[in-house]
Amino acid sequence: MDFKPKRPGHSPEKRPLYVYYLIALAVIVVLNMFVLPALRERSIQKTDYTTFLESVEDGKVKRAEIQEDSILYELTKDDETVFCKTNRVDDPLLVEKLYKAGTKMEAVKATNNSLLISIIGGYLVPIAIFLFLGRWLSKKMMESMGGGGPGGMMSFGKSNAKVYVKSSTGIKFTDVAGEDEAKELLTEIVDFLHNPKKYTEIGAKMPKGALLVGPPGTGKTLLAKAVAGEAEVPFFSISGSEFVEMFVGMGAAKVRDLFKQANEKAPCIVFIDEIDTIGKKRDGSGFSGNDEREQTLNQLLTEMDGFDASKGVVILAATNRPDSLDPALLRPGRFDRRIPVELPDQKGREEILRVHAKNIKISETVQFETIARAAVGASGADLANIVNEAALRAVRDGRKFATQADFEESIDVVIAGYQKKNRVLSTKEKLIVAYHEIGHALVAAKQTESAPVHKITIIPRTSGALGYTMQVEDKEHFLMTKEELENKIATFTGGRAAEELIFHSITTGASNDIEQATKIARAMISRYGMSDEFDMVAMEHMQNQYLGGDSSLSCSSETQTILDQKVVELVKTQHEKAKAILEENIIKLHELAKYLYEHETITGEEFMDILNKPSNIEE
Ligand code: ADP
Ligand code: MG
Ligand code: ZN
Repeated sequence: MDFKPKRPGHSPEKRPLYVYYLIALAVIVVLNMFVLPALRERSIQKTDYTTFLESVEDGKVKRAEIQEDSILYELTKDDETVFCKTNRVDDPLLVEKLYKAGTKMEAVKATNNSLLISIIGGYLVPIAIFLFLGRWLSKKMMESMGGGGPGGMMSFGKSNAKVYVKSSTGIKFTDVAGEDEAKELLTEIVDFLHNPKKYTEIGAKMPKGALLVGPPGTGKTLLAKAVAGEAEVPFFSISGSEFVEMFVGMGAAKVRDLFKQANEKAPCIVFIDEIDTIGKKRDGSGFSGNDEREQTLNQLLTEMDGFDASKGVVILAATNRPDSLDPALLRPGRFDRRIPVELPDQKGREEILRVHAKNIKISETVQFETIARAAVGASGADLANIVNEAALRAVRDGRKFATQADFEESIDVVIAGYQKKNRVLSTKEKLIVAYHEIGHALVAAKQTESAPVHKITIIPRTSGALGYTMQVEDKEHFLMTKEELENKIATFTGGRAAEELIFHSITTGASNDIEQATKIARAMISRYGMSDEFDMVAMEHMQNQYLGGDSSLSCSSETQTILDQKVVELVKTQHEKAKAILEENIIKLHELAKYLYEHETITGEEFMDILNKPSNIEE
């Protein structure tokens, strides 16, 4: 069995161009420096200056070549020409003497070579090499542009699609945790490739293409590789960006080539990763900047229409920007099956952690459930990262296995960046941060329907956060009530509220809180219909839902003004509420802030203990 990815067709090994130039250069240098001088040196007789002058006076020297510190000359001796060499002496009359004797003179500087040799070595050879290389290159280009020509030299227009044979990826569905729906849909495709008869007998047709859509890092590429590992058929994998080429028309040629190969190898799977790079909506405007991309897309559409699905060529593609795809791609008969690959839920996160933890040594006491719960919103890639960070941390501390604490710290790392041990806050700053964070936590704890506090820390992070309060939901939420959202806003404003209450001044520490609170408030009014004024009218539309989501306004500017007012009102009300809560619990605020100031990191349990035990400080 061949484990290496095979390259389709025959293409010669591609040596970069500069290698040829280097070889040519080396040849020239060697010739010039060693071979030619050595050849000449051998037939040259050494004489002294006096002998040389005598020969000149006798009129025997036909030609002399005056160099910086020596003189080469041709001597006629017994009707034969002999080459001689002598050291040059400071002789101001030399030229005159030579002239009188009728010797041909030449002055040569610094080099030992005669004119002929330097012309050949220095000019003709390189020019010949360049001409040869140039012709050879242009021939190669012509061939690939024409898209044809008998094999051999053409490697320019070939797609770089790699064929994966069964065991080469080695990834199976069991390596992909969670994502059960996606796996189920893909299993059907694998099954079809194995027993096409079962389907064709009833008359069922397989979809030609399936599109994996979902946020980054959720395992789309991984799923496609798993399909390759499960279906025992050739697997062509290419990324959308590989179609984008320097020369116009090249991308389209690659698409053509890819499908030609796929047809030859059917049944097989073609996987186009990040298809949005070529599949973007074509803008109707006449002067689109990227003709090349458009041509590539058109070629892809044509090819997808052109082949017969019953032959067993299945096309998979992945993207995290489905809304930017050209509608023509999503039409029935092309990528008509959409496979959502969403962020994992609690159970999915737990499974993913387990899959990745198999590769590292962990202590028996590690509770994946707790870790998964603390990692709300993490993607599969984040979770893989968390596991790796935990292992790294264990190594750093010189342990043989990773512990629960390693995992918890690595969640912090992935969420908030590394602890920045050497950043020193002044005492005053540290105190402010402590009150700020307790402000968040206390407001959260005193509201019903609010997620419990999991951890509070005032150790600065590399991300710039000076501290943070982590809340973790008891159970997965799919719906949020208006009250819950309002409470969230109140919790975000709690940090600033504490600063105001205790220090009577405010700091820049709340910038992220402000952003978050505004985002929620805005969404409540413009998208969730949670205000009396606008009822169930949408003011905003989401774009790029998988990539953080920008939203675009769709209302008149008057409405927008009212909308902005409502957002401010909403946040203000919650801010007031937070302040009231803190005022009511000011003793606890002092107590907790003092405790946090001393300990720097406290757990949810410690927090609740202090909150619930009777106070011992007087006001
Ligand atoms: P995408 O293509 O959706 O952006 P990838 O497939 O490249 O994401 O996932 C990146 C990495 O994250 C994978 O190599 C894998 O280690 C991990 N990963 C993501 N999702 C999962 C999952 N469901 N199960 C196991 N590992 C996962
Ligand atoms: Mg990917
Ligand atoms: Zn804050």
